[in-house]
Amino acid sequence: MIRRPAIMTPGKLTAFVAAVLFVFIMISSFFAVSADAATTLQQYEKIKKDYQKFLKDEGKKTYRHFWLRHIDRFLALQKRHPKSTRADDSLYMAAGAYVKLHEYSYLKDDLKKAVKYNDSLAAKYPKSNLADDGLVRAGQVLEKLGDKKGAYKRYAMCVLKFPKGDLTSKARAALKRLLKYAPKPTPKPKPAATPKPTPAPTPVAEKTPVSPPALSAITQALSEAGLKETEKPVDDDTAGDKEGLALEPIPLEVFGVPIIRKISHWSNPDYTRIVIELSEKVNFQQHLLEKVPGSQLPRRLYLDFENCHLPDRMDKDYPIGDGLLKQVRAGQNTEDVVRVVLDIETIGEFQVFPLLDPFRVVIDVSGEKRTVVAAKPPAPTAKRRIWKVVIDAGHGGTDPGAMSRGGDRETDLALSIAKLVEKEFKKDKNIKVLLTRRSDRFITLPQRPAIANSYGADLFVSIHINAARNRKASGIEVYNFAPKAGADIADLVAAENATDVAGVMSMNTLLDGLTLLYKRAESNNLAAKVQSSMLVQARKQYRDVKSRRIRGAPFYVLLGAKMPAILVECGFITNSTELRRLKNKRYQKALALGIAQGVRQYFSEFD
Ligand SMILES: [Zn+2]
Repeated sequence: MIRRPAIMTPGKLTAFVAAVLFVFIMISSFFAVSADAATTLQQYEKIKKDYQKFLKDEGKKTYRHFWLRHIDRFLALQKRHPKSTRADDSLYMAAGAYVKLHEYSYLKDDLKKAVKYNDSLAAKYPKSNLADDGLVRAGQVLEKLGDKKGAYKRYAMCVLKFPKGDLTSKARAALKRLLKYAPKPTPKPKPAATPKPTPAPTPVAEKTPVSPPALSAITQALSEAGLKETEKPVDDDTAGDKEGLALEPIPLEVFGVPIIRKISHWSNPDYTRIVIELSEKVNFQQHLLEKVPGSQLPRRLYLDFENCHLPDRMDKDYPIGDGLLKQVRAGQNTEDVVRVVLDIETIGEFQVFPLLDPFRVVIDVSGEKRTVVAAKPPAPTAKRRIWKVVIDAGHGGTDPGAMSRGGDRETDLALSIAKLVEKEFKKDKNIKVLLTRRSDRFITLPQRPAIANSYGADLFVSIHINAARNRKASGIEVYNFAPKAGADIADLVAAENATDVAGVMSMNTLLDGLTLLYKRAESNNLAAKVQSSMLVQARKQYRDVKSRRIRGAPFYVLLGAKMPAILVECGFITNSTELRRLKNKRYQKALALGIAQGVRQYFSEFD
C-alpha cells in the first residue's frame, strides 16, 4: 500500500479555508461597530463565492446574462452599503468581471464599463488599498481600447495620489513608455533661437527668457481631464465625490520628463568640482566657448542636457568666485534643453564624466599650477618636504556598506582602521593627514576625491572591507582606478559604487569614450607598496593572511582624483575567521601600520 503524503487534499483545503473564514468573520464581527457590518461582509463573501464558482463553469460563462447577474450583485452591494468595508472590493470585482466578460463578448462597451468602475473605485475610495489598483487597471484597459492618452492620465494619477503604493513603479514605467501621450502644454510663443556652439559673444541661457517648464499646463490638463472623467459617469454613481481627485503640483519627473535635481560644488583656488544631479540618465554635450577679443564675456564651458527640464523652484545661479570659476548658471535654454554654463576666470584643464545611480555629471576644473606630484617644490624651511595624505573611511551614515550575518558593518570597521592610520601618520612630522570623515556620517562618493583635490593632497587612500557570496573568500586586495570593470569583479564594483551590476556594465561604455585623467602608473606603484606592506604587518599576527591581486576598476570614489589614489579592501566581512580578526584592535593596528608604511615607502622615492 502506498502511503499518501501528508498534503492537504482539496476537500481538506476547502474545510480549512472555511474554518479560517469563519474565525475571520467571527473576529471581524466582534470588532465591528454594528452587526450590519458583519452582515455586509457575509453578503460580500457569499457573492464572491458564487461568482468564483461561476468562473469555473465553462458552459455558463458563454451566456452574457449570467455575467451581468454577478456584476449586478457586486454593484448593488456597493450601492446599498457605500460606507462598508467591502464597498471598494465590490467595485473592484465588478470592474474585473467586465474585463473577463470582454474575453467572451468582444464588446468594447464592456471594457469601457471596466474603466468606469475602476475610476469610480479610485475616486470614491481614495483611501482604499485597492484605489491604486483601480487606476492602474483602468490604465491597462484604456491601453487595450487604444486610448493611450486616457491610460497616461490614470498612471499619472496613480503616481500622484499613491506615491508610496506598491504599484507606483509599474505606473512610472508605463508613464515612461507612454511619454508621447502626455498632456501637451498649451502652445506658447517660441523661445529665442538657440545660440550656436561656436565662439560668439552671444549670451547663453540666462539672457534668454526662461520658458516656464510645462508643469502648470500639464497639471491643469490632468486636472481637467481627471475630473471630467469621473464627473460624467453613465449612471451618475460617482457624482459629488471629487475628493479623491484633488490635485497638487506635480514634479515633472512623474511624467517621465527628466529634470535637473541638484547642482553642488566643492572648490578652492586650485580646483573646483561641480556635480549636476539628474532624475535619470539623459544625453548631454559639452562645449567650450573661447573669449572673443574685445568682448566683455568670459570664457565659458557649457553643457547641454537633452530632453530635460529645470524645475522652477531651483536656484539658477551659483556664485563661486574661487579664482577658477566666477559662477555656474543653469537655464531652460529651449523647450527641452537645459544648459548649464560655467563662467571661467582661469582654468588649466577640465574633465567631464558621468556617474550612475543617481545619474550625475561631474565637471572637474583645475588651475594651471599643481599638476604632477613630484613637480612640487620642497618646502623652504624643512629639509624634507611635507606630504599631504587624505584617508577616506568608506561608506557612513545612511550607507553602512557591507554587513556580516551578525550585523557588523563595513562603515564602522573602515572608520576604525582609518583613524588608526591617522594616528600612525601623526607620529611623522613630514606627513599631514586629513580624514574625509571622523564619525558615522554620510558623504557622497564624488565628494570624497573632491575633498582630496581641494586639500591639495599628494595621495588618496580609501579604506573598505570586502564582501563575497563565497564565504570562504578572504585576503587583502588593493585597487587603483581603471575605466572598465572585469565581469568577475562587477559585484564588488557595484556594491562600492552603490549601483547594480547592470549599472557597472553601462558605466563601462559610458566611461570608455572619455579621456580620463588619472595617475595610473603612480597609483599602481602605490597599490603594490601598500599591499605588500599590509601583508607583512598582517602576517606577523596570522601567517595565513591571503594576498589577492592588485587591479584597476571604475570605483567612483577614485574617479577624478588628481593624485595617486587607491582603494584598499582590508579583508572579507563575510568570512567569519577574517571578520573576527578585523574586529580585533590589534589586527586593525597592524593593517593601519601596513597602510602607513606602504605610503611612506612610496614617498621615500621622491624625498
Ligand atoms: Zn566599501
